Amino acid sequence: MKLWKAITAPLLDAVIPPACLVCGERLEDQSQVLCEACEGKISLYSGSLCKVCGSEMKEYPCEVCAEENYAFDLARSVFRYSTPIKDLIHELKYNGYVSPAGYFALPLAELIEGDEDLQDYDYFCAVPLHTVRKRERGYNQSDLIAYATAKLLGKPYLNPVSRRINTLSQTLLSKAGRIKNLSGAFYIKDIAAVKGKSVIVVDDVFTTGTTLNEIAKQLRLAGAERIAAVTVARP
Ligand SMILES: [Zn+2]
Ligand SMILES: [Zn+2]
Repeated sequence: MKLWKAITAPLLDAVIPPACLVCGERLEDQSQVLCEACEGKISLYSGSLCKVCGSEMKEYPCEVCAEENYAFDLARSVFRYSTPIKDLIHELKYNGYVSPAGYFALPLAELIEGDEDLQDYDYFCAVPLHTVRKRERGYNQSDLIAYATAKLLGKPYLNPVSRRINTLSQTLLSKAGRIKNLSGAFYIKDIAAVKGKSVIVVDDVFTTGTTLNEIAKQLRLAGAERIAAVTVARP
């Protein structure tokens, strides 16, 4: 596994602690976020994947696609949602460490560059957080990841999507609950930025795809031409 260096974009203007964010082991290099032992445990989300929804295909045609009727054209994830990626996402979301966002940007950019179905998109955007939660956290982790990835690829970063309701955390809800919780949560605040455009929506984790699907529905209604959902990890 090659060592991915944390990218320090202007927005990610934080002091990176010279210790592994997962096990606390001292690091030689300030640009690292994981020690070698932890990095060795990283698992890529690869294998026999559906070209549309990006999930592991157990049979053909893809049963997930058949069941979900996703509004995005395709979805991709870089890592398996397990240690140490899971821990880095947790540090980013709940403990105020922004360096994982920069760390995730390079593999995301590599994934996008290497996938023929992810070429010629107009810009990147992120899954928005409600203002109240953003104020509590100080930043939106998906914004940071999307911004850093867009910078690496020399693509624009825009945010035409807003969040209306401070939804409950999706983690504890059933699938039906997740859909209900998010219904009407997102709206397009800048339709001109969406109409006829190809958009890559970035988020940290793809669990059931409900959040990304709700955003894709709104983008589609506003006239987006192509919509891709790209996430750091998937269980
Ligand atoms: Zn470590
Ligand atoms: Zn599929």
